[in-house]
Amino acid sequence: MKVYFLGTGTSQGIPVIGSDHPVCHSNDFKDKRLRVSVWISWENYSFVIDCGPDFRQQMLTSGCQKVDGILFTHEHSDHTAGIDDIRPFNFKQGNMPIYLHERVLESLQQRFAYVFETVNKYPGAPSVEPILVENNKNFKLGDKTAIPINVMHGDLQVFGYRIDDFAYLTDVKTVEDVEIEKLQNLDVLVVNALREEEHHSHFSLQEALDFINLIKPKKAYLIHISHTMGFHEEVQQRLPENVFLAYDNLEITI
Ligand SMILES: [Zn+2]
Repeated sequence: MKVYFLGTGTSQGIPVIGSDHPVCHSNDFKDKRLRVSVWISWENYSFVIDCGPDFRQQMLTSGCQKVDGILFTHEHSDHTAGIDDIRPFNFKQGNMPIYLHERVLESLQQRFAYVFETVNKYPGAPSVEPILVENNKNFKLGDKTAIPINVMHGDLQVFGYRIDDFAYLTDVKTVEDVEIEKLQNLDVLVVNALREEEHHSHFSLQEALDFINLIKPKKAYLIHISHTMGFHEEVQQRLPENVFLAYDNLEITI
C-alpha cells in the first residue's frame, strides 16, 4: 500500500495568510503545509481520506488519476470544503462514493445542498454516493477491510480509519481504551500533533508522543501541524527515532 501525504497542515494551512511568523516565511518546502489529507492506493485501488479546501491543488500536484472513494473523518471545513472539486472525477468515473458518519452526511447535505439536490439538479454539480460508516462496523474498501476508529475531537466524534497495518487518526484529543485495542500491531500510525502548547481539541506534541508510546506502532507520522510547532528540521531532530513529522508530498510504502 502506498500512502501519499497530500496535506499535513492545520486548518489555516502554512503559510498562514498575512502571518509574520518565521515558519510562514521559511524557504524549506517541508514547512509549506496544505490542509490534511492522504491518498492511499494499492493494486488498482485508490482512496482519499478527507477532501479539504486544497483538494484540487493536491490532486494536480500528486498526479492522482482516479479516486474510488473519499473517506471523511468529520465535517469541519478543513476536511470537507473541497467537495466541489470532485467534479473532474465525476465526469470521468460517475458518482463519487463517500464514506462517512450519518451526522457528517447531514452536515454536508446542509452546507452543500446543491450536491444532494434531486429536483432540477444543475447538470455539472458534483455527485456523490453516500455510504454510512458506523462505529464497530468494519466495511469493505476495494478488496480490503476498513476498521473505523471512534475518537473524540473535544466534544465532537471523529472517525479514524485502520486499513491492514496502517491507521490514520486526525483531529484527536481523546481515545477510549476500547478503540486503542483496535490499533495494536500497526506498521504505521498517522496521528495529529498540533503544536507544543496544549489545545482543547487536538493532541499537543507531547500528547501525541505519549499516545504513540501507548500504541507502539513500528513508525508514526505526525500531521495537522500548526506553524507554531516550529521549523520542520528543528522539530524533527527532537523526535524519537521512529517518529516523523509528515510533510506535503511525502510518499511511504507499507
Ligand atoms: Zn482539522
